Amino acid sequence: MHPFRPLALLLVLAGCCAAPPPARVTHESLNAVLWMQASAEYAVACETVYAAARSELDRALADAARAAALEQGEGAAALPPAVVFDVDETVLDNQRFQARLAATGTTFSVPAFSAWCREEQAGAVPGALEFCRYASSKGVFLVFLTNRDAAVADATRSNLAKLGFPADAARAAVIGKSGESDKGPRRREVCGKHRVVLLVGDQLQDFVSVPKGSDNARRRELAAANAARWGRDWFALPNPSYGDWERALVDPKGTDEENLKRKFGALRQ
Ligand SMILES: [Mg+2]
Repeated sequence: MHPFRPLALLLVLAGCCAAPPPARVTHESLNAVLWMQASAEYAVACETVYAAARSELDRALADAARAAALEQGEGAAALPPAVVFDVDETVLDNQRFQARLAATGTTFSVPAFSAWCREEQAGAVPGALEFCRYASSKGVFLVFLTNRDAAVADATRSNLAKLGFPADAARAAVIGKSGESDKGPRRREVCGKHRVVLLVGDQLQDFVSVPKGSDNARRRELAAANAARWGRDWFALPNPSYGDWERALVDPKGTDEENLKRKFGALRQ
């Protein structure tokens, strides 16, 4: 026998029988949360959006014929101007809450999120505070239209005020969710009292009603159908850490394991 053969055989066998490399065990949103908390890029992306929104705000205020909401009816020119904002990951930064989920290996629940809202510890999304102060200084009413539970509307207003946002009733309204998630009907109500000059959000539904059960292909179609609005009437902030895009990929009644499998199945390689 060749003197090296037993050694070679041993190495081959060892290769065959070695345990596979350990799977990477991290929370699904780890990178997204870190990007939002730590990167320079997230902050400048948000500031870029708000800087562009400020330029369009000036143009929209100067042109009474402009209205940003699809729900706006006739006679808007005579109404006082408003900007409609989403709250979470649009003006308030909840990444410390998201970080807790990642650190403890847990997932979102409404009670846990509402408890976080009551802590009033959310930060400001980069660029949001300056934009809101500027808009308010131009006499624009700020509408914070959120799917946070209506029960935490006061805590939300208080959190905004602590950060320096114009949040008193004379300058701003916080409208929470007391019924359906679709923001369309609540936007329509706002349009009855104001000319909505801009919409700012991080989810497609912050701009347009999205039919229940829409998959991401349908959601992209809806976004494309309103192509002329983006960057003019509608301004979208980046949020990779959660959202309707993710809910469209999973089964809310499925287990974590099943839903993770669904997500891997949705990867395009
Ligand atoms: Mg949001």
